Amino acid sequence: MRKLLIAGNWKMHLNTMQASILMHRLQERVRIYRDIEVVVAPSMLVLQPISLQLDRRKFRLAAQNAYHKDEGAYTGEVSFTMLRDLVHYVIIGHSERRHVFGETLQDIALKVEAANRNGIAPILCVGETKTERLEGHTKRILHDQVVSALKGLTSQEVEDIVIAYEPVWAIGTGKTATSAQAQDAHAHVRSVLEELSDKATADKIRIQYGGSVKPANAKELLGQPDIDGALVGGASLEVRSFAEIVKAGQPA
Ligand code: PEP
Repeated sequence: MRKLLIAGNWKMHLNTMQASILMHRLQERVRIYRDIEVVVAPSMLVLQPISLQLDRRKFRLAAQNAYHKDEGAYTGEVSFTMLRDLVHYVIIGHSERRHVFGETLQDIALKVEAANRNGIAPILCVGETKTERLEGHTKRILHDQVVSALKGLTSQEVEDIVIAYEPVWAIGTGKTATSAQAQDAHAHVRSVLEELSDKATADKIRIQYGGSVKPANAKELLGQPDIDGALVGGASLEVRSFAEIVKAGQPA
């Protein structure tokens, strides 16, 4: 049985004070269920203060990015080594990193390797653009993104990762994939994971859906057999919405 993982990606929002207020309100409002893991991914600036504030029995912390080298002359970067005692997860390969900052498949593979080396679980984001979907390339794109990122890992190491299927056309657009489209993509990702490891391992790996998840669509998405959680952007900044999305993961 895979434990659902609901994560809020705060992106480049909130200064220190605003982040602290949001965290305070989330701790008051989000009900924690035994079968649901809840994660927040604040900006790099506020990871440290939020780590001191959050109730670790209820929430886990993720970074939104990190650099693959452990240390050195890399101005402006933060390494996985620096984050290792601070966060449980690091989001790797988010579509904004791929498309706005030009991260390549090779960069992403190096980051997955660095996360693994430093004992941090990657949340590896994969997903096709609108054009790729319309041209019928979704499955090939997902295959290539998953295989190129994970091919350096052993089956044992693959077991610790989380995948977030995030169709690029659904991120921040209000256009959510239908539950059938999402389930189809998730089942495909799981078959690729099986190809890379084995069925038992693939069955243990959590695959989150991300892309305009809201309270109104969360229950149906989370009810699909291969959807094991959600990576939530915009709605994770609204306390009521995020609390409702977490609640939607609870079986009726
Ligand atoms: C995201 O940032 O990963 C995301 C899915 O954003 P949104 O929920 O706003 O579409």
